Amino acid sequence: MRACPISCTAVKQQFSTCSRKPKDVNQMTRGNPCQLPGMLPNYDPNDSEAGMKILEDLTENVEQIQQRVLEEIITRNARTDYLKGFLDGQFDKQVFKKTVPVVNYEDIKPYIERIANGDSSNIISAEPIIELLTSSGTSGGQPKMMPSTAEDLHRKTFFYYLLVPVMNKYVDGLDEGKAMYLLFVKPETKTPSGLMARPVLTSYYKSNNFKNRPFNRFNVYTSPDETILCSDSKQSMYCQLLCGLVQRQEVLRVGAVFASAFLRAIKFLEHNWKELCSNIRTGHVSDWITDPGCRKVVSLVLNKPKPELADLIEHECSSKSWEGIIKKLWPRTKYIEVIVTGSMAQYVSTLEYYSGGLPLVSTMYASSECYFGINFKPLSKPWDVSYTLIPNMAYFEFLPVKKKNEDGAQYVQCNGVCKENCMEKETEKEDVETVELVDVKLGRYYELVVTTFTGLYRYRVGDILMVTGFHNKAPQFRFVHRRNVVLSIDTDKTSEEDLLKAVTKAKVIVESLGILLIEYTSYADTSSIPGHYVLFWELTSKGNNHLPVLDPKIMEQCCSTVEESLDSVYRRCRRNDNSIGPLEIRVVQHGTFDALMDFCVSQGSSVNQYKTPRCIKSGEAINVLDSRVVARFFSQKAPFWEPV
Ligand code: AMP
Repeated sequence: MRACPISCTAVKQQFSTCSRKPKDVNQMTRGNPCQLPGMLPNYDPNDSEAGMKILEDLTENVEQIQQRVLEEIITRNARTDYLKGFLDGQFDKQVFKKTVPVVNYEDIKPYIERIANGDSSNIISAEPIIELLTSSGTSGGQPKMMPSTAEDLHRKTFFYYLLVPVMNKYVDGLDEGKAMYLLFVKPETKTPSGLMARPVLTSYYKSNNFKNRPFNRFNVYTSPDETILCSDSKQSMYCQLLCGLVQRQEVLRVGAVFASAFLRAIKFLEHNWKELCSNIRTGHVSDWITDPGCRKVVSLVLNKPKPELADLIEHECSSKSWEGIIKKLWPRTKYIEVIVTGSMAQYVSTLEYYSGGLPLVSTMYASSECYFGINFKPLSKPWDVSYTLIPNMAYFEFLPVKKKNEDGAQYVQCNGVCKENCMEKETEKEDVETVELVDVKLGRYYELVVTTFTGLYRYRVGDILMVTGFHNKAPQFRFVHRRNVVLSIDTDKTSEEDLLKAVTKAKVIVESLGILLIEYTSYADTSSIPGHYVLFWELTSKGNNHLPVLDPKIMEQCCSTVEESLDSVYRRCRRNDNSIGPLEIRVVQHGTFDALMDFCVSQGSSVNQYKTPRCIKSGEAINVLDSRVVARFFSQKAPFWEPV
């Protein structure tokens, strides 16, 4: 790709000069670099200095850029059905903020459904919606769907390019080798009108922006695209690991998008290293790799028998302990690139065990709605990671939230979730004012609200962030937690309400046998890979206080019923991706939940306001429950799932 002839220090001017839209946005990356869509300065991603300059300019001019982004979005979309209703043809920012409401998914769902059903008028966006991105979280049993436009792919590409100079600033020589990134696509489906509906990363990897990406010497992958794009996740994993092992001496960094996916790959390696070594020894790819694209490219990478390499890998893998295995297998690796913030923080210690002390790098914070922020200090420890929101990605607003315990009593120590989750809107009034990006205050908590180029207006993302500092004038945020999520193993996000619904369905089974569920709670057990949901149930026989005799078949049915009742992302992870293990119910003896309450009160909970936490994170609280377990049952079948 040619470098942009416009000086990168002139990013600010570019925002106003480069906003001409090309006729065919799919052609944009190959044409004149300055014909990028509005608000996206172009530059050569091989030129780290230029990249850093762009980041400096973006973070210096936050206020102007945010104003310009909002102007651009309103100007383009004021005549859409959605905005027309509020703006009445006015292109005014003040009117926008006064009249356009802050919304949740339920508020925009009718508009999304019209798009899914084939209404091609300007419903929410003047740009055509080319596909819908299925996000985690459900609405009425269906996954939420976020709009996407052709231009949006370029915004994502721009964002990915910006990660390169940041990494180069901290780690030298990344152009002297390769990255073993284990990337995967997920199943996709079509809406009734034929629009593609799929997860955001699948959409990106299948796009021309990814497939036809220009060569970047800082970003050479060991996985050929065919192995990433293979829809059979087992073949994809096998082939990517095989390619990574064969090129082990060239690998300078390893990773996956989320920590959970990377650990799954290590487990896969644990189960399959003998076969992988045999392929390397003979130079022949296993016959069960039937995907023609994969077979072809992997055979090329394998090239010829490599018995010495096979011996070496075999030696490392047959060691009793896999502590530090990453460093042993890929000795030049400088860091592991995986998101370890938010719900992924639960994997840090396991990753540290396998990594042999390599830094864990969370580069970015993004979602199906929009890509948000970049970690400007990629080598910081997982608990110190902050993301700087990139001001030309969207128009950002913030709903102030406060910790409940600031008022005193409601701080429930024994519930690790609540410890962080005890957040509420600053006022209970619905019309609480949002704060702009430049006005957030250090140390304060906010819920993120976005107005995107793709047709979301003042949309509550559901993430709670804390301001930790500033890079130039751009605030930096620590990801605190996601609103209402109590359980998460992989990309699943189960809320207290989802869990209650699922448990309510399952308990009907035991109730019909005269058994009552008197209390329950849960936790995400990640001590084994893949992790799984654990429910603690206290049961009693109707009419007396005795622990009933339990039929294992019935209890296993309860486990399956809970799984069947959880949302489609959970069921996909469990059935299709194998990234969640079978759900477990641990039945506890009588009085266990009283003991839990005593423990919580001893930790500072108020007796008057005590409510059983529906999810436990504190190790000590889990011990209180675990020491009273009388029986364990696991789901015996994966729940039903198909792309929806
Ligand atoms: P989805 O809507 O399925 O695309 O998931 C997006 C959500 O994943 C975000 O809104 C966050 O809650 C979470 N997420 C994404 N990136 C990060 C990150 N770097 N750290 C913590 N949570 C993240």
